Amino acid sequence: MSALPVGGPGLPQRRNLVTEIPGPASRALAARRSAAVAPGVSSVLPVFVTAAGGGVLVDADGNSLIDFGSGIAVTSVGNSASRVVDRVTSQVAQFTHTCFMVAPYEGYVEVCEELARRTPGDHPKRSALFNSGAEAVENAIKIARHYTGRSAVVAFDHAYHGRTNLTMALTAKNMPYKQGFGPFAGDIHRVPMAYPLRWPGGPQACASEALDTVKALIHAQVGEENVAAVIIEPIQGEGGFIVPPDGFLRDLAAFCASQGIVFIADEVQSGFCRTGDWFASEHDGVVPDLVTTAKGIAGGLPLAAVTGRSEIMDAVHVGGLGGTYGGNPAACAAALGAIETMEAEDLASKARRIGEIMLPRLRKLAGEHPVIADVRGRGAMIAIELTRPGTLEPDPATTAAVANYCHSRGLITLTCGTFGNVIRFLPPLVIGEDLLEEGLGILEDAFASLEA
Ligand SMILES: *Cc1c(COP(=O)(O)O)cnc(C)c1O
Repeated sequence: MSALPVGGPGLPQRRNLVTEIPGPASRALAARRSAAVAPGVSSVLPVFVTAAGGGVLVDADGNSLIDFGSGIAVTSVGNSASRVVDRVTSQVAQFTHTCFMVAPYEGYVEVCEELARRTPGDHPKRSALFNSGAEAVENAIKIARHYTGRSAVVAFDHAYHGRTNLTMALTAKNMPYKQGFGPFAGDIHRVPMAYPLRWPGGPQACASEALDTVKALIHAQVGEENVAAVIIEPIQGEGGFIVPPDGFLRDLAAFCASQGIVFIADEVQSGFCRTGDWFASEHDGVVPDLVTTAKGIAGGLPLAAVTGRSEIMDAVHVGGLGGTYGGNPAACAAALGAIETMEAEDLASKARRIGEIMLPRLRKLAGEHPVIADVRGRGAMIAIELTRPGTLEPDPATTAAVANYCHSRGLITLTCGTFGNVIRFLPPLVIGEDLLEEGLGILEDAFASLEA
């Protein structure tokens, strides 16, 4: 076989299938995998990757696939962005690790300075760095509890906050995230999400009723004075790309402020230009007390952060926060390269442009295929929800069939949603428009094939 391409700026930006998906080399690796890797860790599409960048993934058979997943909203700058690669390469040649809690280094401070500059609000802020989104969420809850001296935490239906014990408790969906993994952390209280499509009285009622419902439940079942934090994803991710009505987040944040409750925006999936703003909270003019970030922050290296008001962050005693690897020097170098790329290439505008291309085509598709009950999202965080036509009954079977069709044609799409009936689109923000259009064409073919 000819040499496989390498990542980076030279990687050809085209779809090219040379075998079936997955091909023989990937199937051979899959056999080794099943003998060595725990089956609890699954993969959407079992093609083994050898190179990736821009808007494509290349597999071990030499197939080139269009990427509408970004490794779950991580590689917004691509999987081999030159600023990320260069900074990480020179950092690991200097030193790989000291542990910031043993002997600090500038990169960590610089990332925290960038977070203070980019997150909503111009109040004094501090940040602490961690390894994963779940770890950031856990720490945000620790900080909110310490600051308020309260213990209750309010989370939403359809929420996803991670897979550790506390974050499983915050996560709504049982299968596959929680089944058999309990008991879960206590004093977590769940309230309805402002989910326009599924609000009992419909979208209009959702906008006017959702906040009152949340407030009434907190009052009756928890007591405002016991609540340390309300945590919400400004656009819910795994739960189905649920976009609350305009004003909901703003009014929720104002309610929290009036009750001394810390308002935590979990921007792990929606942050870092994904929705067309640096952070999705900005759309509603919301200034969260604490923001959790991860995924898009570092171009694929593991990094996460809690950023918040200095009076909240400063409340924790010295030594109360940290971790061996949190803010690892290579991950910090990657974050600085990713943020520099977002700025230099104006990826927030790119995200908006992706939405402007996708939404009209998806709405047209929905007009032709009544199985698509909803088209929603912002920027490059877009989804379609599939139901039995004319009803709200979820249609996970058609959802899976469409995703499988796309995979077999070399388009990586992800599904999500509490009911498994949402197809989400998270292309890298640097994807070429020709690849974006080609990917949408494959999706359209997938729906046309349903009728065939
Ligand atoms: C993915 C995700 C998490 C968990 O992040 P990990 O890095 O997988 O631990 C938390 N919150 C949201 C909103 C996410 O999308």
